Amino acid sequence: MKFATRLVHFDGSPKDPYHPMATPIYQTATFEQDHADSFGEYDYSRSGNPTRRVLEDQLAALEGGSRGFCFSSGMAAILAVTQLLKAGDEILADWDLYGGATRLFGEVLNRSNIKVRYVDASDPAQVAAEITPATRMVYVESPTNPMLRIVDLTALGHIARQHGVLLCVDSSTMSPYLQNPLGLGADIVIHSATKFLCGHSDVTGGAVIVQDESLAKEIAFLQNATGTALGPFDCFLLLRGLKTLKLRMDAQQQSAEKIAHFLSKHDKITAVHYPGLATHRGYDIQSKQARGGGAVLSFTTGSPEAAKHVAETTQLFRIAVSFGSVTSTISVPVKMSHASTPQALKESRGIPDDLIRLSVGIEDPDELLEDLDSALRTL
Ligand code: PLP
Repeated sequence: MKFATRLVHFDGSPKDPYHPMATPIYQTATFEQDHADSFGEYDYSRSGNPTRRVLEDQLAALEGGSRGFCFSSGMAAILAVTQLLKAGDEILADWDLYGGATRLFGEVLNRSNIKVRYVDASDPAQVAAEITPATRMVYVESPTNPMLRIVDLTALGHIARQHGVLLCVDSSTMSPYLQNPLGLGADIVIHSATKFLCGHSDVTGGAVIVQDESLAKEIAFLQNATGTALGPFDCFLLLRGLKTLKLRMDAQQQSAEKIAHFLSKHDKITAVHYPGLATHRGYDIQSKQARGGGAVLSFTTGSPEAAKHVAETTQLFRIAVSFGSVTSTISVPVKMSHASTPQALKESRGIPDDLIRLSVGIEDPDELLEDLDSALRTL
């Protein structure tokens, strides 16, 4: 079956005698057992829940993995993956990461003596050169947030295998519709399900998908041991949102392409970062490893004041953190999603303070362009 068909044709209610079209919400914390010394398939929702399992299986299938796991947020998913490591281990991470990931790496993992070093992972040679005997994981986003840099996942997969380290890819900006890192050589895929998987800004959730059975066992253990799984009602909402993933992303991506072209010709805009533009650094790699540029882009306006002004002047693009919703949003990353990143890191990473990030929704594309155009004309 093709992707659009797979999104709606799957076993959404295993073993249910009534064959409902929508997956039932098993809103229960515990399941009655026949015996005191042996349990059925489900005993307690922290360990497993039928609604969650349908979502987890569907995500695993869409990503080409063997097992999926859903968490209460993208950060809980990232945390679970980092808990595969032990004191003394090291993560080699690309420098351009969601601010919350940087905070977790710098201010939480250090408490367990797990070290994170940053490299420019868009240069695979640099990653290979920086791997040490302590390195257990290479951690990247692609495209990255907020600079939309492209990391060559196939090249990193080779390097990771050669050195016996895990490659973990946060693919939130793409969704399984546009990119499948496991097929490119990644060991672990992470999604902030809050973004395109949900699509409606009404759930915070996260997902981890793996192929390898022993990794799956470890993540299952961690999900249960730490109690970070997603609740049944949120799983139901995600299952509902997921069915329209292709429809939404096709529309959002088409509009994002139009907007990126418009901005790249605009005299007030100093740079546009969008992986669907042929001029974008990494475009060729993106064309090989993904099926489009997605619906997130960023651009610079010349000054932080101009960025603030544009963000506050658009009407259809609403000021909000996060991305991937059917409603378009606008943000100034250094003040919003990346505000928690220490100033020195922000400066050394070169995330411009006049950078605006857009997440393009499903509104009429011409109205979105008009909205941006009129905000830019007031500069
Ligand atoms: N990964 C990326 C790329 C993100 O942008 C975010 C949040 O914005 C996260 C992970 C964290 O996800 P959540 O907000 O669902 O915890």
